Amino acid sequence: RQAGGALVVDGLHVAYGRSVQALRGVSITVPPSGIVTVLGSNGAGKSTLLRAISGTLFLHHGAVEGGTITYNGQNLRGRDAAAAVRAGIVQVPEGRRVFAGLSVAENLQAGLLGTGDRRSARAKQARERVLELFPVLAERETQHAGLLSGGEQQMLAIGRALMAGPKLLLLDEPSLGLAPMMVGRIAQVIREIAEQGTAVLLVEQNAAVALGLAETAYVLDVGEVRLTGPAAELARTDEVRRLYLGDH
Ligand code: ATP
Repeated sequence: RQAGGALVVDGLHVAYGRSVQALRGVSITVPPSGIVTVLGSNGAGKSTLLRAISGTLFLHHGAVEGGTITYNGQNLRGRDAAAAVRAGIVQVPEGRRVFAGLSVAENLQAGLLGTGDRRSARAKQARERVLELFPVLAERETQHAGLLSGGEQQMLAIGRALMAGPKLLLLDEPSLGLAPMMVGRIAQVIREIAEQGTAVLLVEQNAAVALGLAETAYVLDVGEVRLTGPAAELARTDEVRRLYLGDH
């Protein structure tokens, strides 16, 4: 597996229509390996940042109005999702969207679309890796995805993204709405994915989980980076403890 390069977002401005300035000069760097997290409360701009990177902003009627996005030195600003996938960047959408009427196996197969290798040895390898990472999916390959529990659907959504063999995985609130035990299992899987060499950009409202996983953290606040630093250091600051970790 070829390692990816760094993702560099510099001075990014994104708007939805004329009135909503969702990002106002955001700069973040994701190194070729490891986990970086972006924290922030509702509406801070976390999903918007991921959409801009993954080339899906236009689906939400948003547009980049300033700044640069490069991966491995290659420009991604203004490129579409297919270009991002070709560069090695794949996003797991918020809300664990799976194809409810398709089987687990078909959902995984769908992750190969756009990669150009649906039947290759690489695709087979990717599938084996996913089923190893999520044994529960192997047990349910023929079942409709809509019948899986919320946590299992989240695993399937992550597994589908991994089928494309990403060098950088973008995760949008994977713990949202899951039972605490399932949150722990998803966290473990994210750690394993990173250990296997895939860089992870993790967007979370659950700061406790995210700061425990990531090496580096950014705190977004109404479209701007308010704090950044090593995750362990940020977790000790009064501001993060009070606003994001629920300490009083
Ligand atoms: P959440 O956790 O609620 O998803 P977030 O940090 O991901 O929050 P975004 O979803 O990126 O925040 O939203 C940032 C801002 O952009 C908010 O003010 C939001 O209302 C606005 N916004 C997001 N999507 C759209 C859209 N499709 N059209 C108009 N405004 C939008």
